[in-house]
Amino acid sequence: MSSIIQLLPDHVANQIAAGEVVQRPASVVKELLENAVDAKATDIKLIIKDAGKSLVQVIDNGVGMTVTDARLCFARHATSKIRQAEDLFSLGTKGFRGEALASIAAIAHMEMKTKQDQDELGTHIVIEGSKFISQEVAVLPKGTSFAVKNLFFNIPARRNFLKSDTVEFRHVMDEFQRVALAHPNIHFSFYHNGSEMYNLPAAGYRQRIVGIMSGKTNEKLVPVNEDTEIINVQGFVCKPEFAKKNRGEQFFFVNDRFIKSSFLHHAVMSAYDGLLKDGSQPSYFLYLQVPPNTIDINIHPTKTEIKFDDEQALYAILRASIKHSLGQFNVAPVLDFDRDANLDTPYHYKDVEAEIPTIQVDGTFNPFTDDKTNQHYSKATSGSSGYSSGSSSSSSGSSYSGSSYSGYSKRVEPTASWESLYVGLDVENPESIESSPFTFENEEVTSSLFDDEEVEQATQKTYQIHKKYIVSPIKSGMIIVDQQRAHQRILYEQFLLNMTVNQAASQQLLFPLDLFYSASEMKLIEELKPSLETTGFVFDESKTDHVVISGIPVNITESEVSQVIEQLLSDLQDGIPANSYSQNDTIAKSMAKSLAVKTGSYLTEKEQDNLVNGLFACKDPNISPFQKPTFITMRVEDIDKKFAL
Ligand code: ADP
Ligand code: MG
Repeated sequence: MSSIIQLLPDHVANQIAAGEVVQRPASVVKELLENAVDAKATDIKLIIKDAGKSLVQVIDNGVGMTVTDARLCFARHATSKIRQAEDLFSLGTKGFRGEALASIAAIAHMEMKTKQDQDELGTHIVIEGSKFISQEVAVLPKGTSFAVKNLFFNIPARRNFLKSDTVEFRHVMDEFQRVALAHPNIHFSFYHNGSEMYNLPAAGYRQRIVGIMSGKTNEKLVPVNEDTEIINVQGFVCKPEFAKKNRGEQFFFVNDRFIKSSFLHHAVMSAYDGLLKDGSQPSYFLYLQVPPNTIDINIHPTKTEIKFDDEQALYAILRASIKHSLGQFNVAPVLDFDRDANLDTPYHYKDVEAEIPTIQVDGTFNPFTDDKTNQHYSKATSGSSGYSSGSSSSSSGSSYSGSSYSGYSKRVEPTASWESLYVGLDVENPESIESSPFTFENEEVTSSLFDDEEVEQATQKTYQIHKKYIVSPIKSGMIIVDQQRAHQRILYEQFLLNMTVNQAASQQLLFPLDLFYSASEMKLIEELKPSLETTGFVFDESKTDHVVISGIPVNITESEVSQVIEQLLSDLQDGIPANSYSQNDTIAKSMAKSLAVKTGSYLTEKEQDNLVNGLFACKDPNISPFQKPTFITMRVEDIDKKFAL
């Protein structure tokens, strides 16, 4: 019997291999882009026509090829990237199989131009369906250009199998984005049917991500940084409130290669535990570097899957570092962390000197009796030493009666004597104090207002409703404080005071914080440094893309720092104010906004008390730094009226 086994001719073998390597135009895009990256190009241009069906061209300024290599690169298993099987374990390139060009050349019309820097002339080769059509010497710039036309011209079945241009274009876009995201240091441009899709200058990760995703992405990103012996994690995750309905923006790069990994995805999702609405998907752009010998990227022909040596450890590290980042930005529930809960209490009244002298009370005074108010007010401003929790309140009171806040002066008269909202209660009718509202930190002062029993009672007299308002009975009815605005006011005044007297205390960090920013953000930070230092920040060094912070203001916790700076940067998008006063004002406002307890936060009774006390110790308690009312009052009469209906 005659033997029936034959060796397939090369072009047939190549066509078969092409079935694996080239499924659609996007596969060609991926292979050519990756070759350009491997060739150390710093500028890569992708040009396609008809979603890549009629043309995919990639032009790079990389190392180029010699005449011999230019011809050899189309041979199967022709690669310059590995020499022996062991090299697979120290792989630093995208390609290594040496079959992409051979496969593409087998199923398309292909033209290549390439020149090495040191050569006078380059090589121009035309190859169609694995057949060399021409090879010429040509005058060319440094680098390589591949043009792939008429994909699947010789395999009609495959050609018919291609989807609509819209679908194929989407695939090309995906591949382009993956490579461009993995290599922000390379300038990429992308043209489709003559129009520019992307032009992405060399940049850092953040800018590249923003360049590829929408412009709004920047403010959604939370940086992740973790360096351990087995893995370095860098990149960004999105704040949970920006989670999307689909999984479109989820990227892992391992050693600069886009990969898919359901187990890494799971690690990320577990870090978001409890933070996402059902079914919503956080965006993430995570760059992992691992020693090449701890991964096997050879397990899948199109190489988007990967096998790690120590999956468990990677899972734990990734999860922890993302949790940490989300925590730093105050987006995770506090209880999720092994943190000292005290650090999360926004009020540090124990550190603040209580400025509460003995209070002399005009027991007959009722601030909500209109006719008496003004009279009383003028009394207060004309030298009475009473009514002063904040000793400054009387003097500042007069300035607030001016036009800027007149909108609110109807509701609440100038607060020269905010205590008077309460004091009438006990003095007039101690028995009726169901409602002595606030305790003071300073015992002595407290005792002058309430006797011990009453103090005991008083601790029960603020109520938080809807995690938004603090309600408390007062003499004339009740007061409703907006917790977020009130805290903004308190912090704003604290910061402003620290900045203007230039005596802000700083807490030294045990481990300085290393925070990464884009070049433009760094520029802003540089300009703001002097002002930030007056709040208590201590900057150690700054490089082009990061700052090292070794000291922070006392009223900030370490985990809040990056959020504060991020907020500041976004508040300063329209530029830094010219004079130092408004610069300080902007910073104080921004920091108050970041750090203030938010609507939706539960406050303990103690915190509620502190908040209300702190508010009325402010120079200007009536309004938030953003000119919104901080509290309103309701008179008993008004409540009565409602019931009379
Ligand atoms: P692989 O990338 O797996 O090595 P390819 O078939 O994609 O296989 O490429 C074969 C070889 O051709 C590469 O190893 C490289 O030496 C050379 N080559 C391909 N593209 C380029 C390019 N843009 N610039 C320089 N050399 C290239
Ligand atoms: Mg390749």
